[in-house]
Amino acid sequence: MRYLSTRGEADPVSFTGAVAIGLAPDGGLYVPESLPDIRGRLRDWEALSYAELCGAFLRLFATDLEPGVLEDCVARAYARFDHPATAPLVTLRPGLHVLELFHGPTLAFKDFALQLLGNLYEAQIRRTGAPITVLGATSGDTGAAAIHGLLGKAGVRIFILFPRGGVSPLQERQMTCTGDEAVHAIAVRGTFDDAQAALKEVFADGAFRARHHLSAVNSINLVRVLAQCVYYIYAWLRLPPGERERVTFAVPTGNFGNVLAGWWACKMGLPARGFRIATNRNDILYRLFTTGDYAIGPVRPSCAPSMDIQVASNFERFLYYHEGGDCARVRRIMRQFRETGAYRFPNFDRDAFTASRADDDQIRARIADVYREFGYIVDPHTACAFQDLPADGVTVVLGTAHPAKFPEVIERAIGVHPVAPALDALKARQPRVFTLDPDPAAIKAFIDQHA
Ligand SMILES: *Cc1c(COP(=O)(O)O)cnc(C)c1O
Repeated sequence: MRYLSTRGEADPVSFTGAVAIGLAPDGGLYVPESLPDIRGRLRDWEALSYAELCGAFLRLFATDLEPGVLEDCVARAYARFDHPATAPLVTLRPGLHVLELFHGPTLAFKDFALQLLGNLYEAQIRRTGAPITVLGATSGDTGAAAIHGLLGKAGVRIFILFPRGGVSPLQERQMTCTGDEAVHAIAVRGTFDDAQAALKEVFADGAFRARHHLSAVNSINLVRVLAQCVYYIYAWLRLPPGERERVTFAVPTGNFGNVLAGWWACKMGLPARGFRIATNRNDILYRLFTTGDYAIGPVRPSCAPSMDIQVASNFERFLYYHEGGDCARVRRIMRQFRETGAYRFPNFDRDAFTASRADDDQIRARIADVYREFGYIVDPHTACAFQDLPADGVTVVLGTAHPAKFPEVIERAIGVHPVAPALDALKARQPRVFTLDPDPAAIKAFIDQHA
């Protein structure tokens, strides 16, 4: 299997190439040359454990990784999760389920991809002998999950940018209290989008990239999306057979990575009905999928901070399919969006997606409803996906973070203080944090100095 850039001006690469490079040299994102048909395999996959399913699925994509290496990386990644089902499907009532994706080391769904990515990087370093420098921007959970996926791996240096004051105190502690000298958590004076924009420019400097063996770990890495396809399939296989083909996945959405993974699984033949894109008050994707207008607005901090995003970097992968694989059109639309902050689709085909949006009051109200009705506590991101849920039909809500990561919001909503022992242990540790402007030159100088 080869991987193509959405912008069509970079050479096709292998799986390991795409994983190592992250962002394609032409600024595009890698997509599989073709999507395999998994429909006929679902029956065989029904009895597999999470890690076995992940190995079987990724085997279809990781065609240049020698047998055994992938399986070993996968097995070790999911052994660190603290629930025997890895991704348990909790039924609130018939037809309404929560897929709990927060049983990994940092208690958010990003561990699914980043525990695996850390192991794949380690295998790559062993293969090539070259150390790598991982650079990423985070709105909260990516940074923590990336750091914990890469912690202690020989030959890996980590630089993670996050908006200063824009992540929750516990998220910040997960990034800054690792006690590892190779980890550089950098508070940026700006928003997540500012950090992401600066980082894109750092990656565009080919010489700098090569000098540091720079690798992207944000949600544009191909493996992030592919690893996330697996839990949609796993959840589907755990639904009562009568619910499977009627299911809508309701997905708290920021960078469009998570929901794109589910959509890919469907394009590969997973027979689900569709997807509900759930945003917080930063609603660019809600507006796009309800009106066809893709127009950036200011980022406004919310109580679901990992979704405080306006430029959804993975949207370009959806766009590639939306434009029928016409890379010239993708380039033109992305250029116009970059230059003017807006693009109006004349005939936007929203495909299998519907959308909802929740402001902070609604988030707290949904946390309270779910607690009152089911005695179940959802974190503020997951709560967005309960907004305006259709009463009929079958819904799987993706539970993207553990409620104990956001204790202040939960307490205000329902008067209960959620706990997770792994987070309490962090409070005793000393943070190590740096501060920079979202300026490509400053970031490069910092990396030159610390790598
Ligand atoms: C990252 C994150 C999201 C958004 O996921 P995307 O893949 O960026 O759409 C939602 N909820 C939580 C808890 C997150 O950490």
